[in-house]
Amino acid sequence: MQTQVGRSLEHFKSDSRFQKPHIFMDALKLITAGKSALDGIKLLNQYAEEIKDTQKRGEFMRIIGQLSIELAETQMRLAEQIQESIGNKQKIKTLEEEIEKLKNPASKVILKDKLYYKEDGDGDGGFCTGCYDNNKKLIRVTQVLGLMAHQCPVCKTVFK
Ligand SMILES: [Zn+2]
Repeated sequence: MQTQVGRSLEHFKSDSRFQKPHIFMDALKLITAGKSALDGIKLLNQYAEEIKDTQKRGEFMRIIGQLSIELAETQMRLAEQIQESIGNKQKIKTLEEEIEKLKNPASKVILKDKLYYKEDGDGDGGFCTGCYDNNKKLIRVTQVLGLMAHQCPVCKTVFK
C-alpha cells in the first residue's frame, strides 16, 4: 500500500506495544489481498477494542475509519470502470454492426403484393417488409402449408 493510511498501518505494525501482532497481520493480509477488505476492517475493529491505551485506540480507530473511506472510494472507482467497460463493449458491438452493414449494402427493393422484391429483378423473393424496413435484411418469406399465405421465418409476420 502506497497511501498515507498504508504508511500509518506500517508504523502500527512495527509498534511492539501491540500485543497481538498476528491478528493485525491477518487483517492487513486480508485488506492488501483485496479479497474481503470488509472482513479485514471488521477484524481491525475487533482488534481496536483490545487496545488498552485510549489514545492509541483512538488513533487506531481513526485509521480504520480512513481505511473504510479508501475502501469505499476504491469500490466506487471499480464500479465506474466496470460501467465504462460495459459501455465500451456496447459501442464496439454497434460499430461492428455498422461495419457489417457497410460490407453488405442492401439491394434496392420494390414493393409488390405486400412483399419486397429486388429491383434488379432476378426473380428472387419476395422478402419480408418488416425485416427489411427495420434491419435492411432481406428475409425470404416461405409459403404457409396449405394456405395462400406466406410467413417470415424471422419475425413470423404472415402475408396474405
Ligand atoms: Zn420478417
